[in-house]
Amino acid sequence: MPDPLRPAELRALDRAHVWHPYGPMPGRQEPLVVESASGVRLRLAEPSHGQHELVDGMSSWWSAVHGYNHPVLNEAARGQLDRMSHVMFGGLTHEPAVRLATRLVEITPEPLQHVFLADSGSVSVEVAVKMCLQYWRSAGRPAKNRLLTWRGGYHGDTWQPMSVCDPEGGMHELWSGSLPRQIFADAPPDGFDAEPDETYVRHLRDLVAAHADETAAVIVEPVVQGAGGMRFHSPAYLRVLREACDANDVLLVFDEIATGFGRTGQLFAAGHAGVSPDVMCVGKALTGGYLTLAATLCTSRVAEGISSGDVPVLAHGPTFMGNPLASAVACASVDLLLGQDWELEVKRIGTGLRQGLAEAAGAPGVRDVRVLGAIGVVQLDHEVDMEAATRAAVREGVWLRPFRDLVYTMPPYVTGDDDVARICRAVCAAAREG
Ligand SMILES: *Cc1c(COP(=O)(O)O)cnc(C)c1O
Repeated sequence: MPDPLRPAELRALDRAHVWHPYGPMPGRQEPLVVESASGVRLRLAEPSHGQHELVDGMSSWWSAVHGYNHPVLNEAARGQLDRMSHVMFGGLTHEPAVRLATRLVEITPEPLQHVFLADSGSVSVEVAVKMCLQYWRSAGRPAKNRLLTWRGGYHGDTWQPMSVCDPEGGMHELWSGSLPRQIFADAPPDGFDAEPDETYVRHLRDLVAAHADETAAVIVEPVVQGAGGMRFHSPAYLRVLREACDANDVLLVFDEIATGFGRTGQLFAAGHAGVSPDVMCVGKALTGGYLTLAATLCTSRVAEGISSGDVPVLAHGPTFMGNPLASAVACASVDLLLGQDWELEVKRIGTGLRQGLAEAAGAPGVRDVRVLGAIGVVQLDHEVDMEAATRAAVREGVWLRPFRDLVYTMPPYVTGDDDVARICRAVCAAAREG
């Protein structure tokens, strides 16, 4: 083993050579150096604002739902590592991938029967789009090759996903001239509990009908628009989309990469609406935050449609498709989730967030406070000062990553009540000082 890098050394090399998400090169911000992580705590290599450990309010971007260094997930990884960490998936198969795919079919809405394992959320969205376009091509309707979505969405950073992200204000506006031009509905009206807005319902129906001849699929994040703005909408709009898609020969894709595995209070957010999509993407919490893995599920109608075309195959096959290590951990993570009363834990965290974030409502600079499932959001009336907000949270012993006008949290489901309260104090402090 080489000598460990001293934190200052490590940071200097990081700044010089390592790209970070949405970052400049060389880096301008000073990232904190994490040495290890356990339970809900990140352990820093050197204290920051007096804190050696930070409670993770972000679940490492929605993924680490069981916390870090979990004995069951560690054991699954170790056991698989001793057998094989990877073999190619072309012409070969193995138990971890087969078990995972079967499990996903069992726990997702009934019509979803077939699984494509991909290596990241963005790739699973690429695959979903390819499935939908190819479905219509096989059906002799190649003109149906555009996507329809509503504004305010986020579906990843590769090319097709970027084209259905919110076209305004987001990171992807930069590429608006180069991306495929998709069809955008207005953003869904705010409020999970809000009565459906009849004018908006008509807008959705009319838009799907008007573009039916050129639309392969409608793609949306159900119930929660995550990285596009942490907005919640009524599940009724998902039923409207399902009906409009059925009436107009358009496929429906739900991107459940952020919402899946219980985060919104249902195992999948589609459950709030009681509707099933034709294609569904899952990722993020799939492996409990251990390894990168995502999946695209589709109905037999979609799979058979593709297979009956001139090109009867789905031409996609990532090198690390079905990675056994990631698949084994994902199986263990799903079992761990379903083997406990996750609904109760998500509800408990939601109650803690509601209580702890109440003081932010009506505070100066705060536009809205909202909670759904185990997601808590404080929306400011101004762009957050990310450095000041991060500093305020770290002083409280909490890791948060605010963006735009949002200070938000989605804690691991294993977060205890005291730590939920601590996260809330940090969110409020970040909202005040950011
Ligand atoms: C994070 C996210 C993605 C992209 O997933 P990656 O693994 O980052 O590529 C796509 N859709 C939604 C809804 C997401 O939250």
